[in-house]
Amino acid sequence: MRYSGLAVLAQGLTGNKGWRPAWRDPAPKDAYDIVIIGGGGHGLATAFYLAKEHGLTNIAVLEKGYLGGGNIGRNTTIVRANYGLPGNSEFYSHSLKLWEGLEADLNYNVMHSQRGIINLFHSDGQRDAYARRGNAMINQGDDAILLDTEGVRKIVPYLDFEQTRFPIFGGLYHKRGGTARHDAVAWGFARGADRRGVDLIQNCEVTGIDIENGKVTGVQTSRGAIRAKKVGIVVAGRSSQVAAMASMRLPIESHVLQAFVTEGLKPVIDNVITYGMGHFYISQSDKGGLVFGGDLDFYASYAARGNLPMAEHVMEAGLTLMPMIGKAKMLRSWGGIMDMSPDGSPIIDKTHIDGLYLNCGWCYGGFKAVPGSGHTFAHLIATDRPHEAAARYRLDRFATGRGLMDEEATGSQHNLH
Ligand SMILES: Cc1cc2nc3c(=O)[nH]c(=O)nc-3n(C[C@H](O)[C@H](O)[C@H](O)COP(=O)(O)OP(=O)(O)OC[C@H]3O[C@@H](n4cnc5c(N)ncnc54)[C@H](O)[C@@H]3O)c2cc1C
Repeated sequence: MRYSGLAVLAQGLTGNKGWRPAWRDPAPKDAYDIVIIGGGGHGLATAFYLAKEHGLTNIAVLEKGYLGGGNIGRNTTIVRANYGLPGNSEFYSHSLKLWEGLEADLNYNVMHSQRGIINLFHSDGQRDAYARRGNAMINQGDDAILLDTEGVRKIVPYLDFEQTRFPIFGGLYHKRGGTARHDAVAWGFARGADRRGVDLIQNCEVTGIDIENGKVTGVQTSRGAIRAKKVGIVVAGRSSQVAAMASMRLPIESHVLQAFVTEGLKPVIDNVITYGMGHFYISQSDKGGLVFGGDLDFYASYAARGNLPMAEHVMEAGLTLMPMIGKAKMLRSWGGIMDMSPDGSPIIDKTHIDGLYLNCGWCYGGFKAVPGSGHTFAHLIATDRPHEAAARYRLDRFATGRGLMDEEATGSQHNLH
């Protein structure tokens, strides 16, 4: 059913009895043209765009848990296109444009809010780096404004400008950046794919990938074998484990990233703010909780929970930047398993196995990528040619060393990106 203001009114007047489930709960068929492994944001978006853009609907998305239970429902919801390097620049620009039409596309309110992001800097060197990045963003056709201290103070007067150990020199302001409601994004894509005939199959773990004579022929699952002409692996933190089912060893490490939310407060933080001298960034959710996070826990793990030293570090950085949050009570913390690549940039590519496609390496930036990733991965699967916005996300760059996109300039250590 289509959602509209009129439908809400009509349902409200008739006791809300006419709403139907947002997607079906089908049993898996014996065979599909395309099987997508992983019902996170990227897997659901891929299925949606395969159906919408390429008219392919004999597709199953296989999810071992429930839709939206992975990182798509665990992130801090930031959406932006402020990357500096060729390859990433055009991809995230493409993704942000898709975000800007997404709610109409999906007929679903994903609460996309372009409230602006300010990346603070605290030294002349950092200012130079952000000026360079801002110029790259403008060259790409996106927006960027370099603010001085007073410019930042006008927008976010509650930061500590006076007593702090690392004075605020200014900030890079990206007005089209912002947030979206994370699980609504999963639900919106799920509903959109289901409406076009895609089977979304939950509680269906892929346990093996069938390959004959160098060609994929299907998958083994906890609900039986399913034949498929093409298979896409889109399982984020579990990428190495699933690729191992096809005897592939990926250049990916899985690490824990934590996030935190306080009790609901009246509106106080209008933008997204990132601290330049510690692991801390923050926004306020529509329910009023202050949502903030930091960096990885710095060791590889499959545990979807974090460790106390990083929690302490994040709190400390937050209090340094905006002492007022010391009064807020923390409500919850959680972790997600990040698929960290050696250069911090993702992979959207065919594999050496005919019909097997790979989408991973999103590190801690894959939420903003969901529409762009789904759109370009669908293009690759449907046409066997990379989409121009994702043309540099090749797997072989880690073997050849050519075409690496090390946005953080930290070298090839996964946990530093
Ligand atoms: C704390 C935190 C904060 C973050 N903040 C941001 C942010 O502010 N902005 C941003 O852009 N990004 C952010 N990210 C990153 C972003 O959430 C991820 O990069 C992105 O969600 C990963 O893609 P996904 O949604 O497809 O992953 P997931 O939702 O994890 O989807 C993968 C799915 O595959 C399924 N799966 C795994 N193995 C199998 C199998 N064998 N069979 C079937 N299914 C399987 C899993 O159950 C899972 O549902 C953050 C992540 C975390 C954890």
